[in-house]
Amino acid sequence: MTFNNRTALVTGAGRGIGKAIAETLAKNGVNVICVSKSPESCGAVAAAIIAAGYKAKAVPVDVSDGAAVAKAAEALLAEYGKIDIFVNNAGITRDGLLARMSEADWNAVLQTNLTGAFFWTKAIGWPMCRARYGRIVNIASVVGLVGNAGQANYAAAKGGMIAFTKSIAKEFAKRGVTANAVAPGFIKTDMTAVLGEEIQKAATGLIPMQRFGEPADIAAATAFLCSEEANYITGQVFTVDGGMAM
Ligand code: NAP
Repeated sequence: MTFNNRTALVTGAGRGIGKAIAETLAKNGVNVICVSKSPESCGAVAAAIIAAGYKAKAVPVDVSDGAAVAKAAEALLAEYGKIDIFVNNAGITRDGLLARMSEADWNAVLQTNLTGAFFWTKAIGWPMCRARYGRIVNIASVVGLVGNAGQANYAAAKGGMIAFTKSIAKEFAKRGVTANAVAPGFIKTDMTAVLGEEIQKAATGLIPMQRFGEPADIAAATAFLCSEEANYITGQVFTVDGGMAM
């Protein structure tokens, strides 16, 4: 994969899938801006990348706060001149059956997972268009394709993110900016560690490969979509799920 000394911004880079994406891009020579909610998690990831001899910077920002995102994006664009790659990965779950789902849990998931993507894409996407180059990858979920009982808020956010990806792909295509979604299945991270043993066992039974994926599996697919070689791919949903949703 070729990256030509690009600069990337990865949200949710403090742990799990986002951390693996940040590390993979950095190892390929990309200068990575690591965003997470807490300064500690993105700080530790950026420090480890720098200690390994690659380029990174930690920027703690709450992606659900539009004013904070706009301010951070403006400062980063002033510092770096341009951001070439944007991976929108920050996400949360607040699971529960619809009858018991509170408005607060609905709003929290939509605001972080979907509106956060809108805030960042608005702030970074247009400068990419002006520069006539960009790669946007939104980390969605197979749940956004097929739904899931107990995750109406999360499925709505991820399904919305897929439709959002296709819309910006159409808006940005003639300006050299691609936008794709990666839809992971069950991946071993803090997000799935909280699922009980019974749920994990049942989920594994749905996966033809009979195991959860690793963050590195998502990072590899994401890095490809961020590379120069993915030049003619836009508006696609790349499912990485051990065959679960085929
Ligand atoms: P994770 O281990 O829980 O990590 C989530 C990351 O997102 C953390 O770095 C967290 O920051 C950050 N984050 C959460 N809310 C944020 C906010 N408001 N502002 C800024 N950063 C915020 O999750 P993961 O499993 O790696 O999931 C990453 C993405 O993949 C999510 O979008 C998730 O929906 C998606 N996904 C995951 C799976 C799976 O099986 N794991 C499957 C399908 C899709 P802090 O470190 O500061 O807390």
